[in-house]
Amino acid sequence: ETRKETLGFQTEVKQLLQLMIHSLYSNKEIFLRELISNASDAEDKLRFAALKDDSLYEGDTDLKIRLDYDAEAGTVTITDNGIGMSRDNVIQNLGTIAKSGTAEFLKQLSGDEKKDSKLIGQFGVGFYSSFIVADRVEVFTRPAGAPQSEGVHWESAGDGEFTIENVDLPGHGTRIVLHLKKDEKEFADGWRLRNLVKKYSDHISFPVVMKAESEEEGKKDEDETINDATALWTLPRTEIKDEEYKEFYKHVAHDFEDPLTWSHNKVEGKLEYTSLLYIPKRAPFDLYNRDAPRGLKLYVQRVFIMDDAEQFLPLYLRFTKGVIDSNDLSLNVSREILQNDSTVESIRNAMTKRVLDMLSKLAKKQPEDYQTFWNEFGTVLKEGPAEDFGNREKIAGLLRFASTHTGESTQNVSLEDYISRMKEGQNKIYYITADSHTAASSSPHLEVFRKKGIEVLILSDRIDEWMMGYLNEFDGKQLQDVARGDLDLGEVETEEDKKEQEEASKEHEGLIERLKTALNDRVQEVRVTKRLTDSPACLVVGQFDMGAQMKKIMEAAGQ
Ligand code: ADP
Ligand code: MG
Repeated sequence: ETRKETLGFQTEVKQLLQLMIHSLYSNKEIFLRELISNASDAEDKLRFAALKDDSLYEGDTDLKIRLDYDAEAGTVTITDNGIGMSRDNVIQNLGTIAKSGTAEFLKQLSGDEKKDSKLIGQFGVGFYSSFIVADRVEVFTRPAGAPQSEGVHWESAGDGEFTIENVDLPGHGTRIVLHLKKDEKEFADGWRLRNLVKKYSDHISFPVVMKAESEEEGKKDEDETINDATALWTLPRTEIKDEEYKEFYKHVAHDFEDPLTWSHNKVEGKLEYTSLLYIPKRAPFDLYNRDAPRGLKLYVQRVFIMDDAEQFLPLYLRFTKGVIDSNDLSLNVSREILQNDSTVESIRNAMTKRVLDMLSKLAKKQPEDYQTFWNEFGTVLKEGPAEDFGNREKIAGLLRFASTHTGESTQNVSLEDYISRMKEGQNKIYYITADSHTAASSSPHLEVFRKKGIEVLILSDRIDEWMMGYLNEFDGKQLQDVARGDLDLGEVETEEDKKEQEEASKEHEGLIERLKTALNDRVQEVRVTKRLTDSPACLVVGQFDMGAQMKKIMEAAGQ
């Protein structure tokens, strides 16, 4: 196919374009960051592909991104000499959204500009952000290594359709021409563009060049590099400003918001690698989608190798974004090799500790930010005790629970907080699990604890009971489900309590016998309890039996 054809955008793209132009208007300058970020990714991909076949460079190894403008015509042009795209790539990449769950995501958008701009930011708009400032966008692109005749010209006004045709293109890579809207012509200005590059794209790994503005004789047409062009993670920490870390995060994570925190480390010795890890402020729209991409951007000796290298962190830390640059791996490393590599294994153990330490530090130093993290990603971290037995004490320290102490459903009590409030003589950490916070907090099992003023953690997330199966103790104290087995309140129980219990048991022997006969084999045992103050009776699960929540999950799974 070489002729010119007109194709419609996928429905989701049409919706996204409409919403985006409307709700990201106040952030419109980010279009440049997005396009430069794509250009940089394309250069990275070419450099990687050329490791195997350096003819792909077509004799041009000077990878860079060019920025031009024409104030009269009202255009801004971004050119890269990266990997380029084929006709099919273009139709796929610039005409559809491949992320699964997109339609559901778009349904959540409300038309409220502020809310939607946050949601769209979480989703990532990328290339389509061009249409915030341009009413016509042209893309000229050719895959590196393909014949000149396989160049592609794509054009759209962002209103539902695009045209595509083959054209001869001497250079490989991609050129994007933005025809600015009448009110956005201010972007066709050298100083404005320079400022934006400095602000948003200073530390991508490739030079961004522009023609010099100087009127000096002979200087006018010379190229000048306007960004720093050294990969941020290769610089010493002391030379990097917070703003620079934040901008780099947006490039790496395709996020619009600042990260919550980050950790940048250079490791030397037996293993040599640099990592720059970030914790996002907001969960991506597809956090619970099993196939959603996750993992880090992997570089080997500064050369980009792959996105979404998931072998460097356990699954329960999959919200972490960032870069790992190793000196010990081979440039030929593949996903298969990463899976069984002992170097990767060691790096992964160290990175896991890094992330857990970064979270502990955040919890200590910026508790409000930690709460934001917990609200967004807490249920993911709760997979930790089962997945990573070795670090379970550390993970347990990061967990947050609702509690009878606060009486609220917000999960903001740590096990340490709980321990600091334990009663004299109390030696266990008590908790209750149920389907909902309301069900848990109104359970008769809590009656005796209320009476004695003993705090109970209230767990009502779907994953909680399963998680607690892997957490038996914290800081040497046993974790005890209050609805399970014999209730032992330790030293908090007085002699008097015990005597009362014994007397009651004797007194009601007859009643208990009758109940046992009546309930027959539907219960294992009937006994007098000290658990209750107001309710007449309650059900208790054996210490080692499956809990009610777990039973439901197993039943739902057909077991
Ligand atoms: P993202 O960068 O998050 O993948 P974008 O909307 O920014 O999403 O880009 C969509 C896709 O289009 C990219 O993944 C890439 O495959 C392709 N693409 C965009 N710009 C370029 C470019 N300059 N060179 C090569 N491919 C590009
Ligand atoms: Mg992009």
